Amino acid sequence: MTSAENMADEMIEQAAPGEPVAPNEGNAADGTASQDNETSAADARSAAVHIPAGTVVLAATPIGNIGDASARLVALLERADIVAAEDTRRLYDLARRLGVYVTGRVVAYHDHNERSKADGLLDQVETGATVLVVSDAGMPTINDPGLAIVRRAIERGLPVTCAPGPSAVLDALALSGLPTDRFCYEGFLPRKHSERVQALRALLPERRTIVFYETPHRIADSMDDLLDAFGPNREMALCRELTKDYEQVRRGTIGEIHQSVINDPPRGEMVLVISGASSEEAEAAAPNSLSVEDLAVLAIDRALEDGLRIKDAIAQVVQEHPLPDGSLVNRKQVYAAVLEIKG
Ligand code: SAM
Repeated sequence: MTSAENMADEMIEQAAPGEPVAPNEGNAADGTASQDNETSAADARSAAVHIPAGTVVLAATPIGNIGDASARLVALLERADIVAAEDTRRLYDLARRLGVYVTGRVVAYHDHNERSKADGLLDQVETGATVLVVSDAGMPTINDPGLAIVRRAIERGLPVTCAPGPSAVLDALALSGLPTDRFCYEGFLPRKHSERVQALRALLPERRTIVFYETPHRIADSMDDLLDAFGPNREMALCRELTKDYEQVRRGTIGEIHQSVINDPPRGEMVLVISGASSEEAEAAAPNSLSVEDLAVLAIDRALEDGLRIKDAIAQVVQEHPLPDGSLVNRKQVYAAVLEIKG
């Protein structure tokens, strides 16, 4: 545990449940003087931060290490008129760990109410309030609430700004060792196997480095599907527990990481970073621009060349030529076209 976390734990023990802690309520028994110094330095940094009135501010919160909280986050927590938090208990917990007293009104602002609450919050912005939006961890809007209020603010011509900071996407990308000049963020893969396979198939020709969020209970299935779709040779990184004491980055080929997930199932929060396709891989996986008739001709040729039953040849060529969204052409249509060609 870091010293900041130790300090924070002490603060949590002293706080009444559900109550925020004022900045100077540290433990007097050990190191009060140095804590006072740290707190006044934090106060000084916080006082130096400009709090924009009449503005929505999206602020990133730590994804594990409390030391990653920015001076702007601290100041905004202390001084925003309204704090719209994904989970209010987690907000107060963060405030305690930071030794911050939240003075503004705290409202729950999550996936289920972010659309309905956006306009009410923006009405307050219009009257000059600073509305701070925070999620449980990392950057709001990145697989977290926040987008609805950003869009409504833009529509209503109201100012929005960011106090940027930790986000697992960039942390994992930077640590992966894979190219960072061009990347795409794909959020979580679909839960259902068939949808996940389709999503992965659609990404086969992607040249940019690909970033996924993943959970411990789905990692084994996702790695099976990744291995099936991309084969064993692409480079990847599995980045877990970023910024925390047990941070770990497993780097290797998809085949190696697949095996490591079987041998030593990873726990905690994690991000997968996959190398983009080489030009040969991208060309081979280019989305299907072939018509049903073209596929039928290919299947007839394949059946003759490889001595296959026509149904098996159709299955192969259809699988090899996915549509741009990763779905497959209907095999029955290809079979009908084969019958038509053969007369
Ligand atoms: N808004 C957050 C951000 O900016 O990263 C993402 C929130 S999303 C609901 C939670 C997912 O982010 C986790 O399932 C995991 O994939 C990833 N994540 C968050 N914190 C992480 C960490 N410390 N280490 C690795 N992955 C993390």
